[in-house]
Parts: sequence; structure tokens; C-alpha cells
Amino acid sequence: AQEALRQSQKLESMGQLTGGVAHDFNNLLTPIVGSLDLLHRRGLGTDRERRLIEGALQSADRAKMLVQRLLAFARRQPLQPTAIDIGGLVRDMRDLIVSTSGPRVQVELAVADDLPAAHADANQIEMALLNLAVNARDAMPDGGQLRIGVNCDSMAADNRLHLREGRYVRLSVADTGIGMDQQTAEKAIEPFFTTKGVGQGTGLGLSMVHGLAAQLGGGLTIESAVGHGTTISLWLPTSEIEAGKEAAGPDIAPVKLD
Ligand code: ADP
Repeated sequence: AQEALRQSQKLESMGQLTGGVAHDFNNLLTPIVGSLDLLHRRGLGTDRERRLIEGALQSADRAKMLVQRLLAFARRQPLQPTAIDIGGLVRDMRDLIVSTSGPRVQVELAVADDLPAAHADANQIEMALLNLAVNARDAMPDGGQLRIGVNCDSMAADNRLHLREGRYVRLSVADTGIGMDQQTAEKAIEPFFTTKGVGQGTGLGLSMVHGLAAQLGGGLTIESAVGHGTTISLWLPTSEIEAGKEAAGPDIAPVKLD
């Protein structure tokens, strides 16, 4: 519980810090992008000078995108959990995931029949799923398979996730990508941890997804093998667990490596 509290406080203060910095940064970037854009469109100078301006403009644009993502993170909406059909949600997201993943990634859905409703917030789950799918795509630069599964799993009271006993809707995103070594897998959910290059990753995706699962009374698990792939699962309490709610246990994200 201590650790979960520490994580959530860290995330909270990171969120505030991020919001403040991102906001100031955004204000500073606006005239930079504006001036570069003007120079670029005038097309003055030698070829080399024009290329330099173009490069600076591209970097400034990337910086702006990064700042937008940070601002979105800082402005997280409060959760509004209701009874959600996760299978339906996944099917509705299919086209978006296919287009986000690109032509070299084969997307497959495996949705179990007769799933109970999950106690969750549909918008937030959509965002989480998209985040996981983008990570999966990034882990498969040469293409591969992305398998999104939804099933219902029982959880014993005595388990490493410290979830309440009962049935959970498990939403898993499995890729056949590069995988993570032990150190990466253990750090993956920390805010700002990223192995992607500067301007490419914010390191906030998994920490947001993990925070969401924890807030909903669920959890997140990572199974990964270097060179083989990764499966990240979101465990969401069914509405029936939610109905018999007692004090929620601490949330810990265990990591399993094959
Ligand atoms: P970001 O995607 O911006 O780096 P995340 O918090 O989403 O931030 O992920 C943190 C890190 O976890 C990534 O940089 C990567 O090293 C690792 N990671 C996440 N998902 C996967 C995956 N599906 N396969 C391999 N590594 C992953």
C-alpha cells in the first residue's frame, strides 16, 4: 500500500509539474514555430540555409506535438465508471487500431463470448487500448502480429496483483515485437521512463494506463520475452465485484519474464 501511495503521489506531482512546464514551453514554442514557418515560406537564402530552416521547423513541430501530449496528460479527466462491454469497445476500435498499426502489422481480435460487463470508463479504456497498440506497433518495426484479447478470468484473493477476489475482464494486447528485458519491464510503468528517442516517447503511456487500472480497482500485468514479444494485460473488475466492494487492496504491477 505504501508503494502504491508513493507511486500515485509521484504521478500526481509529476502531472502538476508537467502541466506547468508544458504550458510555459508551449508559449515559448509558438513564436519559434511561427518565425521559422515564415522564413521557410519566404524561401530566402541558399539551399543549405533553406534546408537548415526546414530541419529546425521539423524539430520545433515535433516539440510542439510532444508538449501537446504532456498537456493532455496533465489535464486528465476524472473517471466516470459505468458498466462497459469491453468486447464491443474493442470491436469498435478495430479499424482505428488497424490504421494506426500500419500495413506490416497484422491485427487479430480474440473476444470471448458471454463476457460480463466491466466496471470502467469507456473513453479512458479507449485511450489506454490505443496507447498499448501504439507501443506494440513501435515494438515491431519490421511488422508482426498484434493480438487483442478480451476474456474473463478469476482472480484468487491471494495473488501478486493484490486484487479483490472475483472475476475480472482481462483486456490483453500481445505483440510479436522486440520484447523487454527485466530492467525495462520493471521500469516500464514509471512516469517518464522511455527507451524511445528524444522527441519520440514521453514515457507516460504505460504509467497512465497503469494509473487508470489502479483507479478502477484493477491492475496491469506485463509478460515479456526479449526477441519474442510482449503481452500487456489490463485487469478490470466486473460490475459484480464492484457491487460487493470492500476496501480495495494496494495495486502492484507484477512483471513476469519468460
Ligand atoms: P513511451 O511509449 O512514450 O516510451 P510508455 O510508458 O508507453 O512510454 O512505455 C515505456 C517504455 O516501455 C517504452 O519506451 C518501451 O521501452 C517499453 N515498452 C512499452 N510497451 C512495449 C512493448 N509492447 N514492447 C516492448 N517494449 C515496450
